[in-house]
Amino acid sequence: MADAGGFRLASESDPTASAHLAGTILPGFRDAHVHLGLIDGAALLGGGIAVVHDFGWGLESARTWATDTALPEVRIAGQLLTAPGGYPTASGWAPSDASREVAGPDDASAAVDEQVDAGATFIKVTLNSDAGPVFDDATLGAIVGHAHERHVSVAAHAQGAGQAARAYSAGIDVLAHAPWSERLPDELIAAMAKAMSWVSTLDIHGWGKFNEGFAVANDNVRRFHAAGGRIRYGTDLGNGPLPVGVNERELVALEHAGLEIDALAAAIAPAPASGAFGQRISRISLPRQEDPAHWLAAARLIDHDNLEVHLA
Ligand SMILES: [Zn+2]
Repeated sequence: MADAGGFRLASESDPTASAHLAGTILPGFRDAHVHLGLIDGAALLGGGIAVVHDFGWGLESARTWATDTALPEVRIAGQLLTAPGGYPTASGWAPSDASREVAGPDDASAAVDEQVDAGATFIKVTLNSDAGPVFDDATLGAIVGHAHERHVSVAAHAQGAGQAARAYSAGIDVLAHAPWSERLPDELIAAMAKAMSWVSTLDIHGWGKFNEGFAVANDNVRRFHAAGGRIRYGTDLGNGPLPVGVNERELVALEHAGLEIDALAAAIAPAPASGAFGQRISRISLPRQEDPAHWLAAARLIDHDNLEVHLA
């Protein structure tokens, strides 16, 4: 995190600061689980979100998002890979072309290739035994294996007893939601903390009116975080009444699960792998306050291309 003294600009040849941006500067905020097909994505930048991971939609639309300048930086999963008749084919929220049914292990490579060839940089599978059939181990393993061969990670929607454990055993890299179907055993949580990331999506469990799923997910997140697991801020935007922008309730929920300011900032403003900040940075002009969630939610984006207008 940049210090509260703000951000100093200097050229490579002359390291003396040439201008000063007051406040606190972080990498552009990321929502690591959205559905652009279900929201007005053009409102995200104004809401403080610079980067999104889209967790499933038809390829015809999804392949256009990465180059749409009205949108944040977008990574797409492409279609949701699911067992024949599996979630979300009968759930109502997703059009039929948002899902790709995978008939068995022999069909796994083709299904993965279709997504990657259309621009997907990760694969999303559904393992929702509450809402239909789920992949057998052989098919799931074939999908994960081929995705990794193509150098893309795999995220899973794991729902229903035992599905989060199956995702872990299959080598899934990311859980699309912090598990809420059951309290996971400590040993499983410890193993998962070494091997995968979880997208938080705590606020979908009641949207501020905490339900039973919220309590279970919150307890799992608390132990996963304490075990060193990596949490990504994500909201499942498009699913229920959520603000199109930074959701302060999601941050508050993570705070309640034990994430302190540095962990919260890392969850929503991950340092870019390259070391260079992305196209947009997040600026918090509020003085550093007691409540980290409220403070982070006050961030606004600045585009590198018009940085000058913000400089003091
Ligand atoms: Zn989702």
